[in-house]
Amino acid sequence: MTTYPIVEPEISDYLKCLSKESIQEVIDLFHGKEYKIPQIIEKFGLEKISVNTFVNKLPPVHHYDLVCPECQVVSWKNHLARNKKSDPFCPQCGEVLIYDFDPEERQRHIEYQKEREVWLRMMDPDYYEYEVVINRARYDTLTLFQKVFLGCAVQALVEDDLSTVKGKLLKEFKLFPNQEKLNEELRGLGIIEGVDYTECKYIIDVSVTKELLACENKLGSVLKDQFNLWKVIAMAESKEYLIGEMSTNNFRYHHDNKFKEVFSNLIQEHSVSQTFHLINKSVADACKLYAQRGNRYLAENSIIGLCARMADYYPTRGWPILKYERRRFHQSLMSQYFFNKLLKIGKVGFDYPPLLEILIHNNLNKNY
Ligand SMILES: [Zn+2]
Repeated sequence: MTTYPIVEPEISDYLKCLSKESIQEVIDLFHGKEYKIPQIIEKFGLEKISVNTFVNKLPPVHHYDLVCPECQVVSWKNHLARNKKSDPFCPQCGEVLIYDFDPEERQRHIEYQKEREVWLRMMDPDYYEYEVVINRARYDTLTLFQKVFLGCAVQALVEDDLSTVKGKLLKEFKLFPNQEKLNEELRGLGIIEGVDYTECKYIIDVSVTKELLACENKLGSVLKDQFNLWKVIAMAESKEYLIGEMSTNNFRYHHDNKFKEVFSNLIQEHSVSQTFHLINKSVADACKLYAQRGNRYLAENSIIGLCARMADYYPTRGWPILKYERRRFHQSLMSQYFFNKLLKIGKVGFDYPPLLEILIHNNLNKNY
């Protein structure tokens, strides 16, 4: 049997004149029926005090049946009245002990405490397990997508030191229309695989921060980078709209490869504002198809192909493919930063397909 440490209670001045054994005897008599309290006082030659005060002078007794699972010391009981003791409690942490000490229970308790600590740290908005350091050398190796991401993060959230961005706060913003694509593109930024960009704290060189805020010289990008990012944004915005329109009508999106194939063609000649029209009409047609045939799977699978066919036959019949407005989803921060701040073409980025000519004739483009 394990013996647990004992914490000795302090003895009040009132009883200090007595030996340890006598004090124990006083306590035993106090809880017994044989003696009245004045008799106990007399028996041990103690100062005469009131009955109520007397009880407070008695030191707590050890209760060997219960050990504090945390502090692993033998519990105490206080004296409440004659023949009445308190519940056992821990002399160290003060916890009232109501269960028997059980080593397994204790292990579970410790594990729970650990988990809770981790959880509390995670919940702390200022605690970050992951840090991404962007110094000048690092910055120069980044893709335009990554620079635009950092530009938005800095613009929205950089601290007064002009170098810290707390990723958790980025959750409040719509940075890009497609989270999956965003995480994929950000991998090269130094974010550990499997970690979300909102779980990191970004430490950015102040000169880099200033460059991102001013967005001068198109962040050192060349035409090809700008053209590619325009396409990436056009695809992401089209996909966001498509999935949104489909889910409104309880259609599921499940042909990502087909989407990529069809829409990478569509956006060569059609603006995002026009793909919205094609998507809107195709989903409406799919609803009609579903109403006629009663086959949801067939209807939802027809949508992407319909977009391509409409893009082909509308012009042959002299029907315009209209330019829709952004109504359903607001523009993401990266899209705004890229078209308004970096290219400075604003709504042209939405109303025209990605076009090298536009980029070339963008006379502010010093890299051309
Ligand atoms: Zn304790």
